[in-house]
Amino acid sequence: MIGIDLGTTNSLVAVMDEGGPRVLANELGEDLTPSAIAVAEDGTLLVGRAAKDRLVTAPQSGRAFFKRDMGTSATYGFGGRRWTPVECSAAVLREMKRIAELRLGKQVDTAVITVPAYFHDQQRQATVEAAKIAGLRVERLVNEPTAAALAYGYDARDDLSTLMVFDLGGGTFDVTVLECFDGVVEVKASSGESRLGGEDFTDALAAWLTKEFGWKPEATQAGRWREQVELLKRRLTKDERSAIAIAGKEAPISRSDFRSATAELTARLRPVVHRALRDAQITSAQLDAVLMVGGASRMPIVVEHLVEDLKLTPDTRLDPDRVVALGAAIQQALCAGNAAVRELVLTDVCPHTLGVDISKQLAPGKIEPGFFSPILDRNTTVPTSRSEIFNTLHPDQDEILLKVYQGESRMVRDNQLIGHVRVNGLRTRPGQSHPGQIDVRFSYDMNGILEVEVTILSTSRKVTAVIEQRPGTMTPDQIADAIRALQPLKIHPREMPANRARLERAGRLYADVSGDLRVALSNLLDRFESALASQDPGMIASAAEELDSFMHPFFREEI
Ligand code: AMP
Repeated sequence: MIGIDLGTTNSLVAVMDEGGPRVLANELGEDLTPSAIAVAEDGTLLVGRAAKDRLVTAPQSGRAFFKRDMGTSATYGFGGRRWTPVECSAAVLREMKRIAELRLGKQVDTAVITVPAYFHDQQRQATVEAAKIAGLRVERLVNEPTAAALAYGYDARDDLSTLMVFDLGGGTFDVTVLECFDGVVEVKASSGESRLGGEDFTDALAAWLTKEFGWKPEATQAGRWREQVELLKRRLTKDERSAIAIAGKEAPISRSDFRSATAELTARLRPVVHRALRDAQITSAQLDAVLMVGGASRMPIVVEHLVEDLKLTPDTRLDPDRVVALGAAIQQALCAGNAAVRELVLTDVCPHTLGVDISKQLAPGKIEPGFFSPILDRNTTVPTSRSEIFNTLHPDQDEILLKVYQGESRMVRDNQLIGHVRVNGLRTRPGQSHPGQIDVRFSYDMNGILEVEVTILSTSRKVTAVIEQRPGTMTPDQIADAIRALQPLKIHPREMPANRARLERAGRLYADVSGDLRVALSNLLDRFESALASQDPGMIASAAEELDSFMHPFFREEI
C-alpha cells in the first residue's frame, strides 16, 4: 500500500516503514514527478519529466494541469485521440504505482490518494476512476491539508494544538484549521479556492511582462517562454532582483514588480483565510502554528502577505513539496493498522454544504422552484449521516426527481449539481388529499463521497439506488477502453522512462543551443542513440553518463 500526492504540477509517492514516512524517488532520482503526459512521435506514451520536457518544444503533443479539469467533461486532443482528465490522471497514477513497485521490489495494488479539500463529489469520483484505470484500488481519499497536518502531527506529536494549514499549490488554494492533541488530529474547518495557485502567479507575471515591454512571444515559442517566466518566478523567491531575456535583451525585474503584477491574486488569499477562521470559530491569535504547504507557499510575496496583513507567522519545518505525500503515507499506515501510528486518530470534515433543490410557496398559489435546502452543513465532522423530511407539492403527485446540490448559495442555480435520484410510488391512492412524504438521508463517508437514501414514509419503501447520473462518470466499457489505451508498449531501452526523459531533454537543449555546442551535443546524442539501438546495458550507461554531464550545466537552475 502506498500514499500518492496527485498534484496539479507534480505528483509524489510515499510509503511508511520503520524509519517513518518517506518519499520514493523516480528513476531520475527525483521525488517530484511532473503531472504531465505526452505522446512521442512513435506513439509511445510519456509521463513525468519526459512529457514535461516534450511539452516545451511540442505543446500540442500532450497535456499538463489536467487536475484542474477533473470532474468536468473537458477533453484534449493529442497523439491521435481524445483524452479525458481522468485518463491523463490515470497515466500519472500508473507511473506512481510503477515507481513504487520499482523501489519496493513488489507489486502494489492499493493506495491512499490525496485530493484538494475543495474537490467536490464529481472530482473525487473522477479521482477514484483514474485510480481504477491505473490498476489501483483506493483505500482512502484524504484531503491534502489533512494529510499535511497528519505529517506535522506525526513529526511533533505533543507540542501542537490549534493549527492552520495554508496550502498554495500549482492550481488550488486551501486553508484548513485543525486541532491536534494527544495524537488526535481533528479538522475544524476547511475553505478554499479551486482556481488559485502558483500557475496563476506565473500567468500573471507573463501577462505583466508582455504589457510592460510591449512584446509577445511567437506562438511556436509559447511553451519555452512560459518555462522561462516560471524560472524567473522561482528566482524571485530566492532573490530580490533578477532578469529575463526579452527579444534578445536582458530586462531587469524586481520582486516588487512581481508583487504589483500579482496584487490581484494575493488579495484573493485573505477572504479564504478569514472564512476558515470564522467557520472554526477562532481568531488568528488563537493559532499555534501556520503550516505552509505547496510549492507556491514559498513565495516571499505570499509569506509577507501572511505576516503583515493577516498577522500570521508561517512554520516551514517540513518541506512544503513533500509534506502532503508524507501525510498520505501516514494515512496509509493508519488504514493498514501499522503500529507506528496506532495512537494517531484522524477526524475530517465535509468541505461543502450538501442539500437538495426544493420549491417554496412564497404567497398563496405562487410556487417558486430552485431553492437550496441544506441537509449536511459544511464542516460537519465525517463520517456523518443526517436526514430531512420533504413533502410533495401536490397531493396527487406520484413522482419526485430529487436533485442533489452542493454549495453555499440560497438558490440552486449558483451551486453545483451532483446528481439526481428519481423516486416514484408516492401516491398511495388516486385523488388522495394529503401530500406524499419522503425522508432524505445523506451519508458522507471518509472519502468525501456522498450516498443518498430516500424512504417513502407512507410505505416505508427505500430507494437504495444512490445518485444516478454523476456527470462525467464512466461506464465499465469506457474504463476498459481507457485501460487499453494506457497499455504500455514493449519496453525497449529507448522507452525506459529515464532514457526517454534524457532524449526529450537533449532534444530540448538541441533546439536552444547553436554552433559548437550543438555539434558536440549532436555527437553525444548519436552515440547514445546507437547505444540504445544495441540494447547493451553497459554501452547505454556510459553513453548516458557522458550525455548527462554535458547537459547538467544547462539545467542546473531547474533543480
Ligand atoms: P504543487 O502543486 O504543490 O506541486 O505546487 C507547485 C507550484 O509551486 C507551481 O506553481 C510552482 O511554480 C510553484 N513553486 C515551486 N517552487 C517554487 C519556488 N521556489 N518559488 C515560487 N513558486 C514555486
